[in-house]
Amino acid sequence: MFSINGVSASKGIAIGKVHVVDRGQFEIRESSVKPERVKNEIARFHRALRSARGELRAIKDRIPSDTATDVSGFIDTHLLMLEDSALANAPVKFIREKRINAEWALKIQRDALVAVFEAMDDPYLRTRKDDIDHVVNRIQRSLLKRHKPARGRQAQPLSDRIVFADDLTPADTVLMQHQGIPAFLTEYGGPNSHTAILARSLRIPAVVGLHSARTYLRDEELVIIDGQRGVVIVDPDATTIRHFERRRREIDRQVIARKRLRKSPAVTSDGEAIELQANVELPSDMAAAAQVGATGIGLYRTEYLYMNREEPPDEEEQYRAYLKMVNALKGSPVTIRTLDLGADKQVDGTRPGAPVSSNPALGLRAVRLCLKEQGLFRPQLRAILRVSARNPVRMMVPMLSNMQELFQVLQLIKLYQRELKAEGKAFDPSMPVGAMIEVPAAAVCADLFARRLDFLSIGTNDLIQYTIAIDRIDDEVSYLYDPLHPAVLRLIQTTINAGKKNGIPVAMCGEMAGDARYTRLLLGLGLKEFSVHPNALLEVKQAIKETHLGETRKLARRVMRAVRSATRDSLIEELNHLGEA
Ligand code: PEP
Ligand code: MG
Repeated sequence: MFSINGVSASKGIAIGKVHVVDRGQFEIRESSVKPERVKNEIARFHRALRSARGELRAIKDRIPSDTATDVSGFIDTHLLMLEDSALANAPVKFIREKRINAEWALKIQRDALVAVFEAMDDPYLRTRKDDIDHVVNRIQRSLLKRHKPARGRQAQPLSDRIVFADDLTPADTVLMQHQGIPAFLTEYGGPNSHTAILARSLRIPAVVGLHSARTYLRDEELVIIDGQRGVVIVDPDATTIRHFERRRREIDRQVIARKRLRKSPAVTSDGEAIELQANVELPSDMAAAAQVGATGIGLYRTEYLYMNREEPPDEEEQYRAYLKMVNALKGSPVTIRTLDLGADKQVDGTRPGAPVSSNPALGLRAVRLCLKEQGLFRPQLRAILRVSARNPVRMMVPMLSNMQELFQVLQLIKLYQRELKAEGKAFDPSMPVGAMIEVPAAAVCADLFARRLDFLSIGTNDLIQYTIAIDRIDDEVSYLYDPLHPAVLRLIQTTINAGKKNGIPVAMCGEMAGDARYTRLLLGLGLKEFSVHPNALLEVKQAIKETHLGETRKLARRVMRAVRSATRDSLIEELNHLGEA
């Protein structure tokens, strides 16, 4: 028995035999095509495209109707990519002009597209690069199949097997879930990869980033997956299996029990009411938020309105989108975050003369971009102001790093309020305006921000990235990701204290808020508002209800003083078991 460490992508426990999927890479060779065969080669490519499309449609039809949120969206994206001229037409041109085989023509185009995406640093657009590979591999598989009859891989029944692959396409993931696959393991990908997002959405345990595991994992080997810890135990003994079976039963019981919490308020055992709201990105997240009884939306990421299109949405389109959202919420509050686009090609490459940033995470992004490109900012600020007229809307600004940026934003809001007034358009003149605290400089100066704002919300995803200097989408450094790093905890504490001192609410909307392991610690540090992914909401609510704030505060202070990470971890364990007999 031994264990392999990866990165936790989706928690839960699974025990079963491994099915090792062949590497997704294909050995593609170049060959020339005689002039009279060019037409046939193009027809072969078109057949492969049709077959890939047919496969995806069949997978889509097999998605159970109750499958969570983004799943069919991923497949639609792949279907759209198959229609796109970059993948459908460019290889045909190469076949015709260079007289090469379809596989090689597709490879040339794939390499060109991937090179473009590799130059981008925006996490969302980077995942689009993976999508290209997933779609291209599907077409390549189809092309290769026509040469050699399918062998092995396709024929293998997968049910009950824990799938281990280099990476999984979203479509493969859905199909495997449909076949009853209990868990996934992948060699590549960090916790923000599509596979990871899907696994969480589908509630399937998953460990990713298992770089060296291919050397150790054999087909049919018995393994235990501990999704929470990101660990794979290979060839476990009977005692270990019994231990994990018990834990799995316990987790299943807890999930069922938690459904009953949907309507009950998030109040600690000593009577402190906590605000527990949901993060949403896609319209489908709204239904998930309602299903778990979120009392509002604490983070509405608006970037998705701007993605996959040439022109940004105008004021009217945004106004309608925000209105639809608030209407669906029937009076619950919503915090709309202003545009948080990353420094990617869309930003650098399409502004004539703009240099491509060599370090985009530190470049012209989010509010920096909006202040520079006010033509982008104005329609959004006006649209948010307009929906605030009759609805409980708050506006939240991401990535603020100094007070000048804040003053500029506040001035623009005043200007657009005057404009709207002159046009006879309604808005709420006292709509709360807040800041995300996600840059260490802003956290250190949280008191300055708190004096001029109506609320703060801590974005731990970026705050941790910038504080510890780890790229949040780079799985090579994800081992350094540590929400309990003293620097991170001190910045959180500073921000909470600044809010308290200035009488304004402080929320947390980063992933840390949705991880129930940290709920008590955050409560102990004085956090009163959480905004979390809908799938995490009931677990966090349960942790809140089981917390006695008085006792928790004392232990939280000890966590803050701890020097060694092992001490911190054991204090967190102690904290999370406080009050248990
Ligand atoms: C964060 O940085 O913690 C956050 C919530 O924003 P995003 O993940 O969208 O950058
Ligand atoms: Mg952020």
